Amino acid sequence: MKMTLEGGCLCGAVRYRLDGEIEESAYCHCRTCQRQSGAPVVAWFAIAPASFAYTKGKPKGYRASDRATREFCGDCGTYLLFREDDATASLGVNTATLDDPAQVPPTFHIWHQSHIAWFETADTAPRFARGKSSA
Ligand SMILES: [Zn+2]
Ligand SMILES: [Zn+2]
Repeated sequence: MKMTLEGGCLCGAVRYRLDGEIEESAYCHCRTCQRQSGAPVVAWFAIAPASFAYTKGKPKGYRASDRATREFCGDCGTYLLFREDDATASLGVNTATLDDPAQVPPTFHIWHQSHIAWFETADTAPRFARGKSSA
């Protein structure tokens, strides 16, 4: 689905705009996303790097692994984006940072094996134990 959307962090110091194909949209229940966001789950969607641009401010980056950087606002801390070192890899944008997150509903869950026991969403979307291919 091709879309033009804008979003940004809580304080407004960092803003972004995207224009292109939403490749997939999902929930991630991994421990890294939980800790980085301070929330039980992160909803994210994938988009080509060429379709995404920061329009205001510059995020800080944190490397939780040796293959990707997690970008966040250095002023308010909002976790915005997952960017792999491979420049051709799709970006993972955190859906709740969109101005209108309802536009991009998640359609599956990854890393469900580490979901928090008291937290479950009321949908019947597929739940993968680890990555998407791990059923
Ligand atoms: Zn901010
Ligand atoms: Zn995750």
